[in-house]
Formats: sequence, structure tokens, C-alpha cells
Amino acid sequence: MSTSPRYRFAPSPTGFFHVGGARTALFNWALARSTGGTFVLRIEDTDEARNRPEWTQGIIDSLAWIGIAADDPHFEGPLFQSEYADAHLAAAQRLFEAGDAYYCEMTPDEIQTLAKAEGVTGYAGWSRDLGLGPGAGRVLRFRVPDGVTVVRDQVRGDVEFDNDTIEDFVLVRSNGTPVFLLANVVDDMTMGITNVVRAEEHLPNTPKQQMIWQALGHRPPVWAHVPVLVNDQRKKLSKRRDKVALEQYRDEGYLADAMVNYLMTLGWSPGEDEIQPWSMMEPAFRLEDVNLSPAFFDVKKLGAFNGEYIRMMSVDELVQGCDPWLPVDWDRSRFAAIAPHIQQRLVTLADAPGVVDFLFIAEPEIDEASWDKAFAPEYAVPLLRNLADAYETCDWDHATLKAVMETEMETFEIKLGKAQAGTRVAVTGRAVGPPLFEALEVMGRDESLRRIRQALATLGG
Ligand code: GLU
Repeated sequence: MSTSPRYRFAPSPTGFFHVGGARTALFNWALARSTGGTFVLRIEDTDEARNRPEWTQGIIDSLAWIGIAADDPHFEGPLFQSEYADAHLAAAQRLFEAGDAYYCEMTPDEIQTLAKAEGVTGYAGWSRDLGLGPGAGRVLRFRVPDGVTVVRDQVRGDVEFDNDTIEDFVLVRSNGTPVFLLANVVDDMTMGITNVVRAEEHLPNTPKQQMIWQALGHRPPVWAHVPVLVNDQRKKLSKRRDKVALEQYRDEGYLADAMVNYLMTLGWSPGEDEIQPWSMMEPAFRLEDVNLSPAFFDVKKLGAFNGEYIRMMSVDELVQGCDPWLPVDWDRSRFAAIAPHIQQRLVTLADAPGVVDFLFIAEPEIDEASWDKAFAPEYAVPLLRNLADAYETCDWDHATLKAVMETEMETFEIKLGKAQAGTRVAVTGRAVGPPLFEALEVMGRDESLRRIRQALATLGG
């Protein structure tokens, strides 16, 4: 039998794919690949009320987007938990036959009443020795042994649980369906999983799961529980409060490489320079170096990473990358001409149209405040008039256009930024935007002059 490690990622398809899930998947992926092991994708689809096939597809697509590709030799699956129902129940039966589990017919109400009367919390093993067999209304409970359970965790070290604090938990519900704890263990066992790397919220389940592993006669996997992601108020990321769907970031123009890089830095540091390609992070990643404290999912920082990755794109990649966000009727060659000049200012690819729209719209909306400010000084109108005259005949390239503006700047004894302000608002409608002379070059003489003259007419000049 092969001894290479088998990692797994076991999402439940009950909603959009969460950025926290993506981070867990990436950690598993890095480990599976760097150890020559396997990454098993198991879809935990046994909660029929909450599952939907489109969520499963969303998981597969999202994983592919962040580079966890189903055709990679290290990838196995997807396997579906629902197809292993027989194995879950067979394991339950074995536990019952070995005396590690017993049936109980107490209702939740009865348990509550008795617990109150006896001054205990939870279920105190009342049916342990009744010798009940299976039957309607009965649950199967695990017989928690005395002692302590030590979970060896690669992130946390040894975590000790006093078995006294763990009640005889349910394995199979009264309707005959196995609970998550059991199905999850049996699947890991069936699939030969050697390493379980998952979110911290599952740590309380782990002593129970480890007991099941041991009762079934198997050595438990190596555990690792990675810290939760929190928002700016240090609250656990939640889909009601925070933007957590990976798909949403993809659709808003974040780059997969930037997202992958940023997610890897949540709880782990790739080194002094946080911006690193996957090829460097994959072999460097170690669970032992993962931080214990909750990791802040900072959308601003993600944006900074994204900006860095956008700046690393070639112009062709940038033009192609922005394409889905550009209105269909925009001239692509015109966009390609301005693209290199906006690369510095983009946080996401989806920002592109808003930065260059004035090149594609006949009458861009004028920002009133910017207009008032740009044309308030006494030199503004005469400068624009001089400029318009000079721009009628000069060469039409950004260097010449700038040189002409510099002459005006000297005439009026002002700085270049001030000299440009009126022209920028006249032509683009706004006080900020891509470099002006490059934008004018792309726009062309006729349209640039039309806008400048139109502004002059409005100003009564
Ligand atoms: N289906 C569980 C979840 O999505 C997986 C737990 C595990 O990784 O063991 O939280």
C-alpha cells in the first residue's frame, strides 16, 4: 500500500463557497502536492434539506479558479458522502456489536427533565446498561470511555480533553440517519485519509471523532485545526454580515493569483515579502508555522495584493483581463492604447471602465465641484484658449501635448498640475484620471478640441 499522505477537503454544499473554505483548501493543496501526496475532494452532501447541486458545482469551479484543478495528478474526486451511507451504518453497527455504542430511547424532553432533577448538564449515560436493541424512536449513542483524550494537533500541539466533559454523543439519529461526526470519520477511514487539516471550529468535535477512530480499531489521522478568519471587528466572518463568497470576488475583478497569495498569508507568513507566486509558497508551507490567533480577512489588503498582481500583468494580459468588464460596444483597440496608462491605478479589473469611460462616451458627465474648482482661478480660461489654439496645429503625441502645456505653465507661472486642471475637467469631466497627455493622444485631436472648445463656450470664453 502506498504510504504517501492523503489530505482531504470536505466542504458541505450548502451555500456560496466561502473564502475561509478556500484558504483551508489551499493549505491542504500545498501539503498534498509538496509531499507527493493526494488531495481528496469530498462533498459532504448528506444534509438534504440544505444541499443544492449548484453549490457543488460552485465548489468545483471555485477550486479550479484558485488552481486546485481536477485534472492535476494529486487531485482525487469529487467523492460524494451520500454514496457512502452504507459504510456509515455498517460502522455504527460494528460499534454497537462491540459494545462501544448503545441504543437510547429517551426523548430530548425527558433528558432535560432528568438532567435538571439530577443537577447535571446534558445526557448522563442513563441508558448505558439497559441493553436496548435498535427500534423506532431510538438513537445510537457512543459510550465515551473514562480518562482523557489527547488530540495531537500540528498547529496547536497536544490538546487535552477530559472525557468527563464529553457526554455519550449520538451517532445515529432516531430516523436512522448517521450524524456528521460519524459519517465524516467513516469517510476519512474509507478514503484512507492520513491528515485532516480543517477549520478551528471543528476542534471540539475532534476528541469525539478520535474516540470513534480508536473504537473502530484504526489509528486516527494527524490533525491540524487552522485559525478562523475574522472581520474588522474581530468577529468570525459570516455570510450575513461580510462579503465571503469567493465567486463574488472573482466576479468583481480580483485575480485568482492575488486571491491565492492573500489567502495563504492568513495565519501563515510566506516570508519577508508577502507577495509570492504559488510555486514558492507551495514547498515552503508548514502547518507548524501556522499562527494560532484568528486571521483578519482584510478586504483592503486583498485589494493591495490585487493591485500588485495587476501591475505584474503584461499589457496584453491586462487588456484581455479587463475585457469582460468593458461594455461590448467599446472599441477594444482604443482600450488597448490607454490600458498601460491605467495599470498603476487599478485595484480590481472591474475598476477599468470607470477610469477610462470618458474615451468612449460622447458627452461624459461633468463633475460640478471639479469644474468650479478648475475654472475658478483667473488664468484658467485664457490658458485653455491658448492651449486650444496651439493644439489645433501641433503634432499629436503625448510628448508634444505636454510640451505645449509646459509653455502655458510658464506663461501663467503656475505648476503643471494646476495648468492641466482645466483641460482635464473639460475633456474627462473629472479632476482625477489617467495621465492627461496620454489620454488626449488616445482621444485624438478632433474630439479633444471639440471638448475643450465646448468648455470654453460654456465658460463664455
Ligand atoms: N463538511 C464539514 C464542513 O464543511 C467538513 C468538516 C471537516 O473538514 O472535517 O465544515
